[in-house]
Amino acid sequence: MSREYRRRTFDEPEDPTPSPSRSPSMASAREGRTGGYWKQNLYLLQERAPKPRAVFCGVPPSNRPKYYGPEFHGLIDREETEQLLAAAGEGAYLVRESQRSAGAYTLCMRFDGKALNYKLFFDGQHFVGEKRFDSMDDLVADGLISMYVDKHAADYIKRMADEAVYEESPYIQYQKSIGTQRRQQRPPLPTLNGATPTADQLRARHGSESSQWSSSEQNDAPQKAHRFIAHTFRIPHYCDYCRNFMWGLVQQGLRCDDCGFAAHKRCSERSLLDCRPDLKYVKRMFAVDLTTLCMAHSVLVPPVVEQCIMEVQRRGLNAEGIYRISGSHEEIEKLRQSFDMCGTLNQRVDLSQARVEDIHSVAGLLKLYFRLLPQPLVTFSVYREMAQALRATRNEYDRIKTTRKAVEEMPPAHVQTLKLLLEHLNVVATNSSANKMTLENLATIFSPTVLCTGSPQQGIILPQQEQYVLHFLLVHYKKIFGPQR
Ligand SMILES: [Zn+2]
Ligand SMILES: [Zn+2]
Repeated sequence: MSREYRRRTFDEPEDPTPSPSRSPSMASAREGRTGGYWKQNLYLLQERAPKPRAVFCGVPPSNRPKYYGPEFHGLIDREETEQLLAAAGEGAYLVRESQRSAGAYTLCMRFDGKALNYKLFFDGQHFVGEKRFDSMDDLVADGLISMYVDKHAADYIKRMADEAVYEESPYIQYQKSIGTQRRQQRPPLPTLNGATPTADQLRARHGSESSQWSSSEQNDAPQKAHRFIAHTFRIPHYCDYCRNFMWGLVQQGLRCDDCGFAAHKRCSERSLLDCRPDLKYVKRMFAVDLTTLCMAHSVLVPPVVEQCIMEVQRRGLNAEGIYRISGSHEEIEKLRQSFDMCGTLNQRVDLSQARVEDIHSVAGLLKLYFRLLPQPLVTFSVYREMAQALRATRNEYDRIKTTRKAVEEMPPAHVQTLKLLLEHLNVVATNSSANKMTLENLATIFSPTVLCTGSPQQGIILPQQEQYVLHFLLVHYKKIFGPQR
């Protein structure tokens, strides 16, 4: 096929008929769009790729491994292989034993009039490269599609990421539409008095200075990178970046685990820091990145943190040893599961006395939440800056100034959650005559849970330094988080 012909094929206007088999992940946002939204030429090309045809061996060799079928021919030479494949035509394939090394196998397949040979492996699944397949037929089908698409559209594929207009991409269109939906359906949050504040009210409560976070306006939302992972789409899927078909049988591209953005590998590399996590993908509440969780729920502070704090302030302030005494491990685990389950449904978990009699279990749940965060609440950079500042100077003003600067570098969800936690622990400590928990005690208990202190190799761990850092935050949080002076 000539280059000119290829160009003409692939640069022709898009198919005006919407495909019945387009991307399912963001399909709802795409309903009602005008035709020609998805570029179908690569899909049509994949459909035209030769199909796999196993060439069966008449008499099965006795040494046939159990994971191969009648396509296994044992020790046959290259010439015989080529004849068998040529007779069966494009897409024909067979497996033969390597003549050079015993126990090694070769996949031979016919494409574009030539016999191609690949070293074949099996580890529970079949593979010749990175992709794994359940059957030989799938492996060969995928290979034929890749080669066929590459042969007929290599130039087009090279250009498609460059030529895509991101503002017009399905992802941006989808975000625009759910931005409106989210503003209309903001999830309610429990509070001490039973009212359900809006995100605006929460923002006001947690500090108006946090203008960097506004869940009501997409444009003000913090920047977050996508978390792309190789993905196998079970039904035909299109790229949310360039609108082209994602060809192949398995691992056709990457998908963001937080928002569902699906893209070719090269297209994914061009995406911006504009991931908007979605509850559809962020299914748990524990052990999820703090920013991801808050964005998915359109809140400033994770619901579980807010609820635990409210409950402890409601009935735990006079409980002796609150946060020091551990609650029932079993009960805490049950509560964790309830939060994980309710997370996607936006349902509230009941932490009231009727359901959770022991307030120490609620306190334990809060500590567990922080312990399971993939990135601790106080990030390493903040801890390092603070530790250095506390060593470098005894001047309180300078120490606070450095800490404040470091805190401002943290993601907004970390800032807001840390601020709420510090406020809360101060409330707990004001009742220390009853609960016996001073700021020093609380700093000792929480520092291993909320601080990222790096590894000992990084050479900045001093005895008691962690407690000292958290204690400093607890004592000075009003100045650190308050309005700039
Ligand atoms: Zn994403
Ligand atoms: Zn793409």
